[in-house]
Amino acid sequence: MSRTDFHQILGVKPDASAAEIKRAFKRMAMRWHPDRNPDPDAHEQFRRAREAFERLTEVRPPEPDTSTGAAADTPSADDAPPPKGEDRHMELDVDLEEAALGGAAEITVDGRVPCASCDGSGHRSYGRTTMCGACHGSGRIRSPQGLETCPTCSGRGYFTDTRCSDCDGRGWHPAERQLSVTLPPAMLPGEELRISGQGGPAPEGGVPGDLYLALKARPHPLFRLEGHDLHLSMPVSVFRVLAGGEIQVPTLGAPIDVLLPESSAETRIVVPGAGFPGRKKRRAGDLVVHLQVQYPRFLTNEQKALLEMADQVMHQQLDDQSPILARWRDQHGAGA
Ligand SMILES: [Zn+2]
Ligand SMILES: [Zn+2]
Repeated sequence: MSRTDFHQILGVKPDASAAEIKRAFKRMAMRWHPDRNPDPDAHEQFRRAREAFERLTEVRPPEPDTSTGAAADTPSADDAPPPKGEDRHMELDVDLEEAALGGAAEITVDGRVPCASCDGSGHRSYGRTTMCGACHGSGRIRSPQGLETCPTCSGRGYFTDTRCSDCDGRGWHPAERQLSVTLPPAMLPGEELRISGQGGPAPEGGVPGDLYLALKARPHPLFRLEGHDLHLSMPVSVFRVLAGGEIQVPTLGAPIDVLLPESSAETRIVVPGAGFPGRKKRRAGDLVVHLQVQYPRFLTNEQKALLEMADQVMHQQLDDQSPILARWRDQHGAGA
């Protein structure tokens, strides 16, 4: 945006004095201050007026002296970071696998295209003059103290509106745009991914804001995430639980083989580090498998015979295998 645009925003001539610029800004502030103007555009109009005022009244660095070829000293104000557009925050729905292993996503973000009618300035070269509603054009209002200068129009009685009517003075029209996003692996749901420069548009002479995507995990058919631990309920046959050995368990990556607990009464297996993967200083979580012991609906004769044999073998070493059954047998005789 050029200085001419700033003059236009404030409605002053290009050669306006500092005092005129200040008066014009006060007028604009009076009209557009969001505290007193409920118009949804008021905030933006006020911001533009303030920006124009600040830019037109700021102390400018001396022009380089071209006659000697010497460059002007860099003023210290340039050390300040350039102004930045607003940061935006969005949620991004992902599967747990995508969050754990990384992936790509297409997102739609709000964007802006410059208004063609005003070349993006938000202003027309000729203004529309409207009468001040507060004083009905007289520039003065009646008060208990008598006639006073109308505060709404600062006594002018009218406003000159040079706003572009196509874009309502914003200088742009909303437009959605598609963005391809690469998800790094091991981002926990709730964490934010910063996408540099994809936030709000850059202010004059500045840089655009950043876009922050907060990961939100879709419900998973198998896994439940608690902190960085993954919980999984998994059916397993009672014979497998009794016989022990390894079972294959799904993870967010490839399935892994997990040794069943020594005691078949234990139905919870914790596999350290097999939960949500770690990132930087954060350790990987655990995988907690909750075994859902499944009993067969019926037994074949062969299975019955095998179980009969297993029971008989147990009774030959009952003191070791089941002290409770052994005590029962010793105290009450039969049974078991
Ligand atoms: Zn007025
Ligand atoms: Zn426009």
